[in-house]
Amino acid sequence: MNELFPFQVEPLPYPYDALEPAISQETLHFHHDKHYKTYVDNLNGILSDFPKLQNMTLEDMLIHIKDLPEDIQTGIRNNGGGVYNHQLYFQCMQGDGFSMPEGDLSNAIHKDFESIDNFCRILTNTAIKQFGSGYAWLTFEKGKLTIVGSANQDTPVTETIRPLLCIDVWEHAYYLQYQNRRADYVSNWLPLINWNYVNQLYEAAQG
Ligand code: MN
Repeated sequence: MNELFPFQVEPLPYPYDALEPAISQETLHFHHDKHYKTYVDNLNGILSDFPKLQNMTLEDMLIHIKDLPEDIQTGIRNNGGGVYNHQLYFQCMQGDGFSMPEGDLSNAIHKDFESIDNFCRILTNTAIKQFGSGYAWLTFEKGKLTIVGSANQDTPVTETIRPLLCIDVWEHAYYLQYQNRRADYVSNWLPLINWNYVNQLYEAAQG
């Protein structure tokens, strides 16, 4: 992640057709090259007028959003969140093969959700029931995994809450293929989770 202004569009860590058939390359081109890029451009546009904020990391801006100048808080929440959330979303999918949680992360999922199946069920329900645009997340805080939803481009990140994975349920993430069938998108998305990447974030979150 290019952490400081000017933020850049991170290339996908896999080819555009790597997530087919669950996510088509057409969807991925629009989502990554247009929607995500717009958030990057808008964020840079806002920050270009605030040189003092240009040495803050994106995560610091989002965590301390209430300390930012009042007239740009909404813009940073929407566009900074849009950059942060999309970076995690694209990174936590994998194009080659299928993975499962292993080791400590697998143990933690069993401890906090009883089983992988139950974890998938709760994540699915959270994603399907998110009203309007938003995300469903797996987060880690103080030794505990939690699944939460968020609206728009809000992100659950704080000093202590570490996001580990997210599924984007904005219509732009699935509408070209699935139209109104968000549940089908979510069920096809679950096998795309890059658990090796999630595990790296989980290990980093242990501190
Ligand atoms: Mn999106």
